[in-house]
Amino acid sequence: MTPAATYTGRFAPSPTGPLHLGSLFAALASYLDARASHGRWLVRMEDIDPPREIPGAADTILQQLENHGLYWDDSVLYQSQRLAAYQEAIGDLVDKQLIYFCQCTRARLRTLNGIYDGHCQSQKLLTTDSRAIKSSAIRILVPDLAISWQDLIRGPCTENLAKSCGDFIIVRRDGLFAYQLAVSVDDGYQGITHIIRGDDLLDSTPRQMYLLEQLGLSIPAYGHVPVIKNHDGDKLSKQGFAPMVNATTPGTNIERCLTLLGINLPTDLSGASVEELLPWAIKHWSRTQIPNVPHAR
Ligand code: GLU
Ligand code: ZN
Repeated sequence: MTPAATYTGRFAPSPTGPLHLGSLFAALASYLDARASHGRWLVRMEDIDPPREIPGAADTILQQLENHGLYWDDSVLYQSQRLAAYQEAIGDLVDKQLIYFCQCTRARLRTLNGIYDGHCQSQKLLTTDSRAIKSSAIRILVPDLAISWQDLIRGPCTENLAKSCGDFIIVRRDGLFAYQLAVSVDDGYQGITHIIRGDDLLDSTPRQMYLLEQLGLSIPAYGHVPVIKNHDGDKLSKQGFAPMVNATTPGTNIERCLTLLGINLPTDLSGASVEELLPWAIKHWSRTQIPNVPHAR
């Protein structure tokens, strides 16, 4: 057995479309943080939501990463191959009496403004009965406690899940494992020590810390970079039809992302290739120079 690395990072795209500038930016931030720490950097394909996926997008994303010089360690982990592990995690949570079926209608949930009120708590899940799983969502009980972490980029953060979201969903009503469950199981399984990702996932962090703890998995350090906005101030997203990064200009794309990360390139590197830009960026990477980082909440 090789000793556990002191740093293992990851980029975990969902194959809902090709990379746009915002997702390339998040990939680059996690890559630079890992490489500047002499760490490993893994890629995990989060392909467990078929209704939202685009055929071919997973391969396109991997080609785009290579095209931008962002080479990963080990083989890519596909979440679609990990369903047995998620089911096993559900079994653990059943044993701990932490989860229950929820049959609330969308109309009822709409009246709750995003904070689930525990209405179905009496329906404790005593077995992993797959017939029941098919027709209901499964929620996990959350404690009324502050969960705090030292964000690597934003500083101290804290959130109380009972106040911010209530018992949250780990298996969706359509029977698919929820992102929160799969991401936690796999961050634990892959021994991830550092997660650098967009701050659109900030609210997910305490949910994942809580799940990791309940599953007996170690909790990584988290750092959240600002998400890139378009001219109208909306997050660049695949759903918002942000254009895919231009495959013919990888150097320029990386340069744009580096500028957004607060890394000012020397003039002799302007127009350089990714092979020249990345080593320089790794040397000059700093978590504290990223612009537009709001102060911790
Ligand atoms: N798959 C998630 C997404 O593309 C990101 C997962 C993560 O970084 O935790 O939004
Ligand atoms: Zn319910």
